[in-house]
Amino acid sequence: MATREEEVKDYRFQITAGAVANHQFDTIALHAGTCPDLTTGAMLTPIYQTTTYRQDGVGQNKGFTYSRSGNPTVAALERRLAALEGAKFCTCYATGMAATTALCLALLRAGDRVVCSQAVYGGTVRLFNQVLAPFRVEAEFVDTSDEQRLAEALRPATRLAFIETPANPTLKLTDIQMAARLAKEADTLLVVDNTLLTPALQRPFDFGADVVLHSTTKFIEGHNATVGGALITRDAELQEKFAFVRNAIGAIQSPFPAWLTLQGVKTLGLRMARHSENALRIARFLMSHERVKNVIYPGLESFPQFELTKRQQTAGGALIAFEVEGGVEAGIRLMNSVRLCALAENLGAAETIITHPASMTHADVPRLQREAAGITDGLVRLSVGLEDPIDLIADLERALES
Ligand code: PLP
Repeated sequence: MATREEEVKDYRFQITAGAVANHQFDTIALHAGTCPDLTTGAMLTPIYQTTTYRQDGVGQNKGFTYSRSGNPTVAALERRLAALEGAKFCTCYATGMAATTALCLALLRAGDRVVCSQAVYGGTVRLFNQVLAPFRVEAEFVDTSDEQRLAEALRPATRLAFIETPANPTLKLTDIQMAARLAKEADTLLVVDNTLLTPALQRPFDFGADVVLHSTTKFIEGHNATVGGALITRDAELQEKFAFVRNAIGAIQSPFPAWLTLQGVKTLGLRMARHSENALRIARFLMSHERVKNVIYPGLESFPQFELTKRQQTAGGALIAFEVEGGVEAGIRLMNSVRLCALAENLGAAETIITHPASMTHADVPRLQREAAGITDGLVRLSVGLEDPIDLIADLERALES
């Protein structure tokens, strides 16, 4: 007869493995990696708010020793996120940037090069330019949507190709399959920041990625309630390196945000579908408005890489970028005039957020680098939420007329 511990292990294993093998995305989002408590029947995995774990004897622990190296609530989230991406392993971090930092510390040494998408989250640029450069890690920012440029940039000392697709905030896409092929030829690992679409809309491992990175702060948790990050992989050796560095630098996520993220992720599929529907309606409205120009949304037929959108993602996602006629001042007037949309730094929440990348999320990116990436001073980023689009359109229309 199986002991209770083996039963728990088995049940978790079956749910996780079964979910990966047999179930659909929304079922995985609800069940993978957790099981009702066998003693109390509690449906939700508890918040294991504990520093340490009593051991049965020297060297006899139950898989956890100290919450800097692992915690049962965080581990449940890790199992679920790995299952959602169609992978085996995941490590969760205090923030998305902690995940990126752990990735770099695990894989890069002095003298190594990184090739990074030209348009990426500003904090990623800051990490490479201002934190890692003094340690002689050289990052080259290239237009990774351009096959030839990417191929040329992948020189022998390149250890990492880091792409963000769609890119924040220009929404330029990189063909993951193409990047994976080039990275493989150059013996370089391909990391995809999948924060903007999540596995609900884009599955980087299916196209050959080695590591998927998330700021779970965004859509994965989805409710503006936490900050967090994740590194997901199918490779046991990479997982070991990430877990080692995470413990060494102390970057693990805390149990409460992990628990909140476990609740938020349950509705990921539903939310991403509604975010995309709402965003498409709003993008069409913006296209039709005489005061708006350069509407960028991957789900629009007019989007320059629309063919790639159809091949690589199952919907357009929540983000729209656009400019207002009248330049920077008109854009700022719009952002100051909206009422329902919140002027804020985050994206990916249930509430709609409007952002001025040049002065907010990408303020630390040097102007020349920002302009080369297409992040103009007049660019407005909208993270379309789950409100009724009728109300969002009314808010934007009123603000545009003001
Ligand atoms: N990756 C992307 C695409 C982001 O937009 C962000 C944050 O905005 C991050 C990574 C960093 O995540 P965090 O803010 O959780 O550190």
